[in-house]
Amino acid sequence: MQSKKTFAFVNYEVCNPTKCDPDKGICIAVSACSHKVLKQIDGAFTPPVVFQHLCMGCWDCIEACPLDAIEMKHFH
Ligand code: SF4
Ligand code: SF4
Repeated sequence: MQSKKTFAFVNYEVCNPTKCDPDKGICIAVSACSHKVLKQIDGAFTPPVVFQHLCMGCWDCIEACPLDAIEMKHFH
């Protein structure tokens, strides 16, 4: 079994759905996550949440976010 060491982490001081999608408040990084583990659980215009135990650490969300609000966290 592979042990997981990295996962995406939303920096809520930077994330601002109103800024990245003023019309609809839809998180672009959520659409980019093909593993569907990044979700706007409170709906449009709210920051997304990462289901970290399921995150594949693939970086797609990080590359998609125009505000660089998502970071990769490493744990030991
Ligand atoms: S994570 Fe990035 S793309 Fe998603 S709502 Fe926040 S700033 Fe926008
Ligand atoms: S790193 Fe990949 S799997 Fe994890 S939340 Fe981002 S896009 Fe989804």
